[in-house]
Amino acid sequence: MTSASFLPRDRLQALFDRLREQGYRCVGPRVRDGTVIYDDLTDAANLPVGIGARQAPGSYRLTHEGHSRCFAWANGPQALKPLLFAPRESLWRAVRHDDGRMRFEPTAQQSRQLAVVGVRACDLAALTLQDAHFAADIADAGYASRRGGLLLIGVDCTHPADTCFCASTGDGPGIGSGADIALSELESGFLVRPNSAAGALLCDALPLRDASDDELYTAAAELESARSKQHRRLPGRNLRDALFANLDHPRWNDVAGRCLSCGNCVAVCPTCFCSTEREEAAFDGSESTRVRLWDSCFSAEHSYLHGRLLRPDTRTRYRQWLTHKLGGWHDQYGRSGCVGCGRCITWCPVGIDISAEAAAICGETVEPGEARGTREGS
Ligand code: SF4
Ligand code: SF4
Repeated sequence: MTSASFLPRDRLQALFDRLREQGYRCVGPRVRDGTVIYDDLTDAANLPVGIGARQAPGSYRLTHEGHSRCFAWANGPQALKPLLFAPRESLWRAVRHDDGRMRFEPTAQQSRQLAVVGVRACDLAALTLQDAHFAADIADAGYASRRGGLLLIGVDCTHPADTCFCASTGDGPGIGSGADIALSELESGFLVRPNSAAGALLCDALPLRDASDDELYTAAAELESARSKQHRRLPGRNLRDALFANLDHPRWNDVAGRCLSCGNCVAVCPTCFCSTEREEAAFDGSESTRVRLWDSCFSAEHSYLHGRLLRPDTRTRYRQWLTHKLGGWHDQYGRSGCVGCGRCITWCPVGIDISAEAAAICGETVEPGEARGTREGS
């Protein structure tokens, strides 16, 4: 059993006070519009105390559980993605000056330190993938600037949703080394484990005591229980060959008959990174701004090339999404693009389940010992 410190529940406010003193803007889970999302947070009292989340394909409802826990819900619709890869971002401006010349100006980048409290393991895994794309692959300056100022405080996920399957992808539900501080929530408080120099600096300023063996045991048992509650899984961690061998499978037509091509799954997915760019010109012609917006492989224009749509129908768009997410990512980034957060299942208006579609197309290809869950109904 690893060692950890313990922060009593009635001292949790100290975490937010120290973050503020160390110059962080703090963001964490709050109830907004019937969901739990990341929003600005100054006090422990802002957290979703006693809140749970009941999720199923195409369904999300908050519940009031009457307990004192703050992190007893599974992820809402928003991941870390919009904090780093903004849904809309100005990239640069072209400005006409008085001498008649046009000059290009970069957009000022945010540099303020941002602490995110309550991050889940699946979203930390997704962040690693976003780093591989935005920081390493395309060297996006805005992303790098925001990423550099980020302090991550993760919390083990002990209340998975019906749609979660992070145990089978190997990305959760426990916090690994991706967070600066890992928390495990118990009834009376929090186990605290720093994982970085910045995390250790913050922990040094908190009113911590050594955790007892009983507290360590309870946290490990709650995590194992959460793991065992997950009953969905993908049919294998590497479906690349199975998917590309089945590009004409009849299931693509079947799912196309249900899919609305709305793109909700892409918007909520913590790893999807497709974008489009456009010019927004001032009415008087004095300047023009280059803007980047989230896009989706479900939008018709996304596949427009040389006067035609490469993916003219929902069948080819859904196939593009799934084969890239679960297949092509292995070539690009060395692993699947799915971290098992289940958001695309919960927030699909018609309840399409990526794990069921993948199983129908690929068959059961799970390697021994790979997945911890079992399929629904099996
Ligand atoms: S594909 Fe679905 S389950 Fe996988 S990471 Fe994206 S939203 Fe989560
Ligand atoms: S799978 Fe669901 S969420 Fe995704 S585009 Fe189709 S209907 Fe929309």
